[in-house]
Amino acid sequence: MNKREKLYEGKAKVLWTTDSPEHMVQEFKDDATAFDGTKHAVVQGKGQFNNAISSRLFEMLRDAGIRTHFVRKLSEREMLVERLQMLPVEVVVRNSAAGSIVKRLGATPGARFDPPLVEFFLKNDALHDPLITDDHIRALGLAPAGAAAQMRERALEINDVLRRFLAGRGVDLVDFKLEFGMKGDELVLGDEVSPDTCRLHDAATGRIMDKDRFRQDLGGFMEAYGEVLDRVAS
Ligand code: 5GP
Repeated sequence: MNKREKLYEGKAKVLWTTDSPEHMVQEFKDDATAFDGTKHAVVQGKGQFNNAISSRLFEMLRDAGIRTHFVRKLSEREMLVERLQMLPVEVVVRNSAAGSIVKRLGATPGARFDPPLVEFFLKNDALHDPLITDDHIRALGLAPAGAAAQMRERALEINDVLRRFLAGRGVDLVDFKLEFGMKGDELVLGDEVSPDTCRLHDAATGRIMDKDRFRQDLGGFMEAYGEVLDRVAS
């Protein structure tokens, strides 16, 4: 499938049109950003790791019956995906407290959420991705009727599958962010599932194996991504 025009360039990925109106190429860049893009670095190898990890996790989710946009891995940095009408909503699932829920709501770091917590955020850099409710999604027309409830349900299903898969590989899934899109009337998982979008801790030691290593200047950033790839590839 040939790439044609650059349709969209984000902080970590580029989307290209292809010869097929139904398909796009999703290319993973080496750029790492945090804190609304105010922290930025180019980290050699990140694009390849995220493409490989995300491809593997999308395949695994597909095998578990979850509808995703993933078609196949095309190259080291590229995957072929179905074209979706993306919804401007980030869906976060939390199994335990870390990150913004600690800062924003004073949750105790590491406290377990059982059942897992689902949050919606408006995807809008200028507004700093504010927390929104399903009523906001409906009132602002951010998604078709019923999609908020469906995203919540689907996100919890994905959490069950992903958490079990990673636990079997010695990785604790703390939290993660999903983005969905519509293909006609169908809700489909888009974007990526990678250590950029998930908090992953080594189950035995608690060692951080995700983008928090970059956010917090912990060092060993790409080594951790390489280890996540080794674990999920098995
Ligand atoms: P938090 O709300 O604690 O900042 O993030 C919760 C989870 O969602 C973390 O795993 C984090 O990596 C992911 N996440 C939330 N917002 C974004 C975002 O804008 N970009 C990326 N890459 N991940 C995000």
